[in-house]
Amino acid sequence: MNRIVVLGAGESGAGAAVLAKVKGFDTFVSDMGAIKDKYKELLNKYDIPWEEGEHTEEKILNANEVIKSPGIPNDAPLILKLKAQGTPVISEIEFAGRYTNAKMICITGSNGKTTTTSLIYHIFKSAGMNVGLAGNIGKSLALQVATEQYDYYVIELSSFQLDNMYKFRANIAVLMNITPDHLDRYDHCMQNYVDAKFRITQNQTEEDAFVYWNDDPIIRRELAKHGLRAQLYPFSAVKEDGAIAYVEDGEVEINTPIAFNMEQEELALRGTHNLYNSLAAGISANLAGVKNEDIRKALSDFQGVPHRLEKVATVRGVHFINDSKATNVNSCWYALQSMTTKTVLILGGKDKGNDYKEIEDLVREKCSALVYLGLHNEKLHDFFDRLGLPVADVQTGMKDAVNAAYHLAKKGETVLLSPCCASFDLFKSYEDRGDQFKACVRSL
Ligand code: ADP
Repeated sequence: MNRIVVLGAGESGAGAAVLAKVKGFDTFVSDMGAIKDKYKELLNKYDIPWEEGEHTEEKILNANEVIKSPGIPNDAPLILKLKAQGTPVISEIEFAGRYTNAKMICITGSNGKTTTTSLIYHIFKSAGMNVGLAGNIGKSLALQVATEQYDYYVIELSSFQLDNMYKFRANIAVLMNITPDHLDRYDHCMQNYVDAKFRITQNQTEEDAFVYWNDDPIIRRELAKHGLRAQLYPFSAVKEDGAIAYVEDGEVEINTPIAFNMEQEELALRGTHNLYNSLAAGISANLAGVKNEDIRKALSDFQGVPHRLEKVATVRGVHFINDSKATNVNSCWYALQSMTTKTVLILGGKDKGNDYKEIEDLVREKCSALVYLGLHNEKLHDFFDRLGLPVADVQTGMKDAVNAAYHLAKKGETVLLSPCCASFDLFKSYEDRGDQFKACVRSL
């Protein structure tokens, strides 16, 4: 077997191609869209032939194996053709896993992946371990396997990345939660999406660990079905039902494998959802043998991830928090729930069929005013105006939204950008939306 074709030349595809080439395969890269300059340069540097704007079938169908980027659906016509002729189609992570003996700590879930992955990486790194950060977080595992030598990898895995994994083994697998997401890619069948998430546990042995949120009804229901062989490490906000990590009397406790505790107050990340993220990260570090004092220190000095409940500044007594990554109602729920002052909430954008009922009670309890920021704010008016809060309607952009929120906020209150919506009506991405928010706050 010597010809490998890589479909899609983003971070994971370009990285996979480099690893394939370094390992001596006849490698070809094909991307239907335009390849970014930095990836063209990388491919050229390794002398890897590529095409963009098309898939030339005769150059692809003769592959012995195809590495597919996670953005390409499994039912794309070319993928179906490859499968029909019996060509294996795998993910970049599957491919990279063949060429490293490093311990793999893998994180998936519908929400909290990036935060937990970053937190685990921060703990390992602060403890002086030789660790790489990879996966959905935007860094190719394959490229690092080709060019670096790490003892551990902390890898964020999306369901799409898990889809094309077959032999890959996670030494520590972390499953944060499962709520409906991306169902358009799973034949609108929730079970298919759940099965994809559980692939993180496939190939685990008795020596491995499966860390999961014990209160998630879907995870609990599915556990028995997936024939897990790994040791189980369930965590919960409270001591209950066999959870091995929880909070009791203001103390974070992990019972096993090594007893660990610290004051909940000392955790750098606030809010219930972040408690789950901290517990999952603490257990993973504990399992990898990181010393308690190192875990404690890193959980308390973590700077957070940009655009997730990120503290921006306090301007004349008004606090500003950027949670631009809250692109669905559920993540805004967690953001509001973690607010400790009255809040002026900036929300709106491209609606994804949102049901705002989920946050109605929290908006009543926590919010002093609302700023609707979007090209089409009718749905927000229809739902929230009846709550009787002061409202500003902004269709022009972030500067006016920040000014409006600042004027509505009283001293001691917080302005929270947690939009519940995608950003594409007024912004390029959630990062662009969050960056503009921060820039506008800083120029107040
Ligand atoms: P992901 O990488 O899975 O999208 P992030 O860590 O980027 O997750 O967080 C995305 C959003 O989800 C954040 O705005 C945050 O408010 C919310 N969130 C973070 N962790 C959790 C969790 N454990 N459960 C539910 N929501 C969470």
